[in-house]
Amino acid sequence: MTETEVFNVLSQIPDPEIPVISIKDLGILQGVKIENNQVFIDITPTYSGCPAMKLVEDLIHESLAGKGFDSVQVISKLTPVWTTDWLSDDAKRRLEEFGIAPPEKTSPNKSWLSAEGPKIIRCPLCKSENTIMVSQFGSTACKAHYKCADCLEPFDYFKCI
Ligand SMILES: [Zn+2]
Repeated sequence: MTETEVFNVLSQIPDPEIPVISIKDLGILQGVKIENNQVFIDITPTYSGCPAMKLVEDLIHESLAGKGFDSVQVISKLTPVWTTDWLSDDAKRRLEEFGIAPPEKTSPNKSWLSAEGPKIIRCPLCKSENTIMVSQFGSTACKAHYKCADCLEPFDYFKCI
């Protein structure tokens, strides 16, 4: 297998928490290098301490098992730091279809909860902007929990970093 072929195989791995997008769409999968039949895979963890990262590593090892490589090494690259801006537009659209409000573009001086208060987050179901933050933490630490004031549906918002 070539580096491109390995990259394409790994590009199919879904994010453990959001099965509709792949680790490539999320910007976790960074690069593949093959040297002397050993594979080196660079990944950038998303939210620090996200428990899903260990799972991502396991999935990478699983998908390359039995492909004839002497060893597979997953290397976590912490710089540059991952941001939600790395999500492709296509990935954001699929997040919304999955029922998770996609992250807004970040700007250097604004955190997702800025001095001006939380941003307006659009309901992924009815597209209303009349939404209320219920909790800063949703089903996982990477998401905030919101509720739509129009359709009354609760939903998760993928936090910007
Ligand atoms: Zn709604």
